[in-house]
Amino acid sequence: MLNLVLFGPPGAGKGTQSAKLIEKYQLVHISTGDLFRMHISNDTDLGKRVKQILADGMLVPDSITIDMLEEEVTKNPDAKGFIFDGFPRTVAQAEALDAYLEKNGQTINGVVQLEVNEDEIKSRIAERQKVSGRADDDADKLLKRIDEYFSKTVHVLPYYETQGKVSKVNGIGNIEEIFSNICTAIDAL
Ligand code: ADP
Repeated sequence: MLNLVLFGPPGAGKGTQSAKLIEKYQLVHISTGDLFRMHISNDTDLGKRVKQILADGMLVPDSITIDMLEEEVTKNPDAKGFIFDGFPRTVAQAEALDAYLEKNGQTINGVVQLEVNEDEIKSRIAERQKVSGRADDDADKLLKRIDEYFSKTVHVLPYYETQGKVSKVNGIGNIEEIFSNICTAIDAL
């Protein structure tokens, strides 16, 4: 199996690159953000619990996120591997994912870090908001998401760096070129 984490700040292009990667490597894409948004639009119990948290640009509590993630992995027993997009976002989530995979004789094979600076993120998301209509793409909510990223999510990187699993890829430039650089990193695993 090939289990990858696509890591980067909001607006780094994780969703765009995941879509291309699943096609090439035949992996199952799990985006916790997409899953939460699906629960919200279907008005499920989980959706009701997380709706305001997402709207505010805050992280959903680990226990809720981890349960949802594990359920999604369990639903795909025949997968050749997974791309985790937007997960893990805290060290506790990374530890839970490792423990879960280990129980099933699996591991994270590599973490691709998409590097994009804060100015670029802000201008990309301002553009995206014109079409996405995402409430959390509003300028003040985006600042909260960036804040959550720098206070909690960045700590996930050293967690994987000590395991020697992180490949850094420049996330600014041509989409195809970035994709090709990610593939080079994956093929070297
Ligand atoms: P982006 O990467 O553009 O911020 P996502 O779609 O990945 O967008 O996430 C949207 C929101 O969903 C986050 O701001 C957060 O509220 C929630 N979320 C997604 N993944 C997680 C996670 N792993 N842990 C906690 N909250 C999450």
